[in-house]
Amino acid sequence: MKWRPIIAGGLACAAVAGVALWVVHANPVGHWLEVHTGTVNEPGPYYGFWSGFGSDLTEFAVIGTIATGVYQLVKKYNCHYPGCWRVGNHQAAGGQFSLCYRHHPDYQGKKPNAELIQRLHREHLERQAAIHGKLNEIHQRLMTKPAAADRAAAPAAPAAPAASAAPSASSGNAQAGPGAPDGPSTQRGT
Ligand SMILES: [Zn+2]
Repeated sequence: MKWRPIIAGGLACAAVAGVALWVVHANPVGHWLEVHTGTVNEPGPYYGFWSGFGSDLTEFAVIGTIATGVYQLVKKYNCHYPGCWRVGNHQAAGGQFSLCYRHHPDYQGKKPNAELIQRLHREHLERQAAIHGKLNEIHQRLMTKPAAADRAAAPAAPAAPAASAAPSASSGNAQAGPGAPDGPSTQRGT
């Protein structure tokens, strides 16, 4: 049962009925509106409201907008650990989480000191170098023997991750292009 269209339809019907009632009873409704918004009988019973509290309604809207903005900012920048109110500007899991130093798994509950920063930076560089080295290796393999991967089924097994990783590694390369789609197709055939 889909409730959303039913509710939307009901609201639309109610709106139409309201407009129809307003049109049929144009005079009393119009008069009621005029009195309650203070457009006739200006010093009437609603004068005090519209010159006092009622004149601040727009300011409440502004305050509400600001409050919503602040709430969104807090939601964006606070630590994603449940119930934590610190500012979380340390990325974890490749940017999925913004965590404070206390909840980031790399820092183990302590503020990162110089030694930890050095170590993490070094590890990051080593990881990057390893990834690039691997990609280069795959690229070289694809460039030198694209035909060998087609002919033999046995070497295709170690070449499988190479074939799947190849498009990102050699996307701009016209020569590696034909070699990359061939790898998975032979893989699937065997
Ligand atoms: Zn936290």
